[in-house]
Amino acid sequence: MFFLLGDPLTQLPGIGPKIALKFAKLGVKSIGDLVHYYPRRWEDFSQITPIAKAQEGQKLTIKATLLTLSQFRLAGRHLHITNALFSDPSGSLPVVWFNQPYLTKTIKKGENYFLGGTVRQSRNRLALTNPSIEPAERVPLHTGRVLAIYPTTEGLTSKLIRRSLRHLITTIRAIPETLPKHICREYKLAPLNRALEDIHFPSSPAALPPARWRLEFEELLPIQLGIQLSKLHWEREDGTAVTVGPDWMERFTNQLDFSLTNSQQRALTEILSDLTRDRPMRRLLLGDVGSGKTIIAAGAILAAIESGYQTALMAPTEVLANQHYRNLQPLLKKSGATTALMTGSAKLISADEIAAGKVDLTIGTQALIQKGVSFRNLNLVIIDEQHRFGVRQRQKLKNKTRLGTPHFLSLSATPIPRTFFLGLMNNLDISRLTDQPQRRSPVITRLATANNLPKIQALIHREIDEHHAVFVITPLIEADDTAGSSGRASVHSEAVQLAKMFPLARIGILHGRLDSPQKIKVMDQLRAKKLDLVVATSVIEVGIDIPHATVIWIKNADRFGLAQLHQLRGRVGRSNLQSYCLVETNVDDPDGLDRLKSFVSINDGTRLAEIDLRLRGPGAFFSEEQSGFLKLKLADLTNAKLIKTTRSAALAILGKDPNLQHYPALKHRIPATYLTHEE
Ligand code: ADP
Ligand code: MG
Repeated sequence: MFFLLGDPLTQLPGIGPKIALKFAKLGVKSIGDLVHYYPRRWEDFSQITPIAKAQEGQKLTIKATLLTLSQFRLAGRHLHITNALFSDPSGSLPVVWFNQPYLTKTIKKGENYFLGGTVRQSRNRLALTNPSIEPAERVPLHTGRVLAIYPTTEGLTSKLIRRSLRHLITTIRAIPETLPKHICREYKLAPLNRALEDIHFPSSPAALPPARWRLEFEELLPIQLGIQLSKLHWEREDGTAVTVGPDWMERFTNQLDFSLTNSQQRALTEILSDLTRDRPMRRLLLGDVGSGKTIIAAGAILAAIESGYQTALMAPTEVLANQHYRNLQPLLKKSGATTALMTGSAKLISADEIAAGKVDLTIGTQALIQKGVSFRNLNLVIIDEQHRFGVRQRQKLKNKTRLGTPHFLSLSATPIPRTFFLGLMNNLDISRLTDQPQRRSPVITRLATANNLPKIQALIHREIDEHHAVFVITPLIEADDTAGSSGRASVHSEAVQLAKMFPLARIGILHGRLDSPQKIKVMDQLRAKKLDLVVATSVIEVGIDIPHATVIWIKNADRFGLAQLHQLRGRVGRSNLQSYCLVETNVDDPDGLDRLKSFVSINDGTRLAEIDLRLRGPGAFFSEEQSGFLKLKLADLTNAKLIKTTRSAALAILGKDPNLQHYPALKHRIPATYLTHEE
């Protein structure tokens, strides 16, 4: 049988509309999708074990004859039990199946079968429970081999997936090669069709590594090509140089009331040197929470303004835009520069004034790139807390100014692991802030349970008495009783509890359902010490800077990723005051606890991110939009060798064929985020 990759799944024998719907849930709609639906793991049932050698806990395949077969139903319970006894020349083994009543009709005494499963102790005897069974005269599909185990969904088993894929063997064998011969040779890549067959039906455990390598390569290569292409495009764009006097750095640092750390100085020097070139800067300033990125951004802004250009600063939320406005406006005013705030709800400036060049720095949210706003000579754009700024948004901004492409600087506290960066984001230049301002004592982090409540209460009492600010974080806004959420704290219920616990405290709430002016008001009150405690969802995770905040108490901490917890922890410890982070959980699942324990003992955002990346993939620290293109099925983004090799391959391919003329299929698979509309 032969199928077209674009055909719907229902073309396959045994797949009707109902099962097709279940496959669709897994993202498998066409035959081609199924071919590329990779196993999650494999189990080795390839050796036939003599019954006498079976051991408890062992996963094995036996080849045996059915001796006896009986079936009964447990009264009152929906439980069918099928008992059987199998034997081979070395001995006999009882087998039990639950709720598979059809078995008595399909298997026959005296016939030979392959049985695959795990050996368990049952009534003082070894037995197989619920094994797969197949007639021994057929080439086995579910036993007697290395078995692919797939991610499944209700009503859709690995067995069914395997059976469906078996119809596709001929189709898979006919899949043409997608990569240039020289690449396959140089990187020792198995042919694509061979790798696909082996990943689903490995002939032996040894067939797996080459198949994986090939398919991981296949998966990552288009992304690497995209990265290199976007770099090439960027390098061809025209920018406008910023010119400042040689004493600029000194003049800038003199007006600050603290001195810059070494890494801040280095970062600012790197940025200045980019700005003074006529190629647009494309730099990422990476620094852990509280490392002082804002002041570096301010330096870049002042340099551009002094040189006669307009600048813009974009923040992900109105609350943050507002905070930046508050912090930067006075600094800019000192240098005689004008600052405007432009968000959805606050327009402290008219679009005309920006267009006329009357505003030197415009701070805003995405509203800034909405239509209607244009600039006279925008030459520097700073993007706070967004790792990727899509090509399309950049294009929009570029069209809003009469100069060439403005210089771009992104600020991020997301501690992206080094290997990941070097390999997958090297279309950006990077400056890192590696030291913290002043010698702040690290935030004290503790794992807490309900038993620790008295201590926590005492701590919060003391901090509030000292006029310090406290955050309490919950995963939910309102208590709800949807499945799976029971036992989770909500902003509303916690606020009520906390009001009882701390009757004198002034308590505010903050969550995503408040509109921006309401949120800003709460933050302003906290900053002005008109509130003592704010109960919030993770909306506060990014960028909020309240220097006198000293306690963050995170409820149901197991609900948050490590990188996210670290961001939350970064809301305290932003001044010289000793700060505390309490992570509370009532979960006793050991994996979850281990994760939280590593959070308690590790204060280095990059290491936490590496753990997160390993445990949860890139989605753990990028938003859906940012990481959607990185949802890889097979490739492991912590695999440095894979990242390095695919990058060299991308460079080699583009070196010979920069427009990928000879590889339309490969070109087609480059994620859209990397392509400009010129293509
Ligand atoms: P982040 O990198 O998380 O955005 P911010 O830029 O908000 O951090 O800085 C955190 C705090 O540290 C701010 O209150 C800022 O004024 C202060 N700060 C920044 N640099 C220094 C420095 N070199 N010395 C002392 N304080 C600093
Ligand atoms: Mg910040």
